[in-house]
Amino acid sequence: MTQENDKDSDNIDADVAVIGAGIIGLSVAMYLQAEGRRVLLIDRKGIGQETSAGNAGALAFSDILPLASPRILRQAPRWLMDPLGPLAIRPGYALQIAPWLMRFGLASRPAAYRASIEAITALMRLAAQEFGKMLAQANASYMLRPEGSLQVYEGEEQFQASLAGWEERTKAGIEFEHVSGERLRQLQPGLADSITAGTFVPQWATVSDPSGVCQALGAHLLKNGAELCQEQIQNLAPHGNGVAIKLSQGRVIHAKQAVVATGAWSGQLAAGLGNSVPLETERGYNTTLPQSAFDLKRQVIFGTHGFVATPLSTGIRIGGAVELGGLKLPPNFQRSADMLAKASRLLPGLRTEGGKQWMGFRPSLPDSLPVIGYSAATSQVVYAFGHGHLGLTQSAATGKLVSELLAGKKPSVSLEPFRADRFRLF
Ligand SMILES: Cc1cc2nc3c(=O)[nH]c(=O)nc-3n(C[C@H](O)[C@H](O)[C@H](O)COP(=O)(O)OP(=O)(O)OC[C@H]3O[C@@H](n4cnc5c(N)ncnc54)[C@H](O)[C@@H]3O)c2cc1C
Repeated sequence: MTQENDKDSDNIDADVAVIGAGIIGLSVAMYLQAEGRRVLLIDRKGIGQETSAGNAGALAFSDILPLASPRILRQAPRWLMDPLGPLAIRPGYALQIAPWLMRFGLASRPAAYRASIEAITALMRLAAQEFGKMLAQANASYMLRPEGSLQVYEGEEQFQASLAGWEERTKAGIEFEHVSGERLRQLQPGLADSITAGTFVPQWATVSDPSGVCQALGAHLLKNGAELCQEQIQNLAPHGNGVAIKLSQGRVIHAKQAVVATGAWSGQLAAGLGNSVPLETERGYNTTLPQSAFDLKRQVIFGTHGFVATPLSTGIRIGGAVELGGLKLPPNFQRSADMLAKASRLLPGLRTEGGKQWMGFRPSLPDSLPVIGYSAATSQVVYAFGHGHLGLTQSAATGKLVSELLAGKKPSVSLEPFRADRFRLF
């Protein structure tokens, strides 16, 4: 980044600016830097300080079923009855979220659901190929834990209800093993007696610490010439052959190209570039307990309760749930406490003291697909946001795709389903 000598000496020149240094912006920056681009990372908080810092660490490459689905429409009314359950709408936010929920309903219809599965499957195949490579590039392969995951069920009814989803995964060539009895309890000792069956997914992996991954990518980027500018961006606009990026203190960065990767906060920046995108946040909660809290062998998924337990280098993280409450309402940490209480029923030996609570803002589009594509105002700005529950998993794939778009290459995956203007069709 260089200071301009002309009329406004406060302005700055950059090659490519990546706005947002969460896992998505960092991954995009990794691929751009590998192509020889000079990267300016811009984030108001620094590297990996928001949603990407505290997630559950899953590389859920087999998670090809969109949240927006006929199944959720059947399940949601029961979930909504419990204000601390897997899905809740904060009182006072119901009106604001109504248009998003209507779009979510439309995206859950069978034809739209099928199209989303196809799009996610293609993105996940690329994600599975790319994530390990990206981590290796940053000398952080030691953070990868290829231990698989174990989804568990309480009783035959829950197991039977999962089978349609596993059938979809069979069609996509995903390996899994339904387990019970000795094999179930060997994969994870100490489960409650109420857990009668499980599904082991060997291709699933986790990282040892999602925050650590962000810091490793950030350190690699800075060591290799990227710069970090800790500022809030107000807006972007086309400027000559490039883009003008206005900082909150009135300074302007002129970049040849820019990427908007500001997670759940991307809606306003996209609106300024002519794209009205129905981006909302699905707030999620967790508690990270000391390492000694439980001998967890791999990530265990309590699907019907909407949370997971993950062994991390920083402790045992119990979290998940979806709370529709926008970006401004204060957290309700009773949700973390409630999940912990449920977890201690399902893992009876779990020691629940000494935990650290956290809330994060999943950036979510109603059709459970991210936005990866050009802005309406200029093809020099590319969007990379809206990864919902799967931003860590899809990060490297997104980085590769964005770098291809900015280089004018044919993307490795068709990006039609991920266009920012797809919602105009509604
Ligand atoms: C409880 C929970 C569990 C999860 N578990 C998983 C999981 O196991 N696996 C998985 O794949 N995904 C998981 N996710 C989802 C995943 O965490 C997100 O999809 C991902 O972190 C989104 O990354 P991001 O870079 O888009 O957003 P963020 O990490 O939120 O980064 C956005 C960045 O933009 C910056 N920013 C915003 N506005 C501006 C502005 N105007 N100017 C400058 N900077 C700005 C912010 O400071 C922030 O650093 C989980 C999420 C939650 C909440």
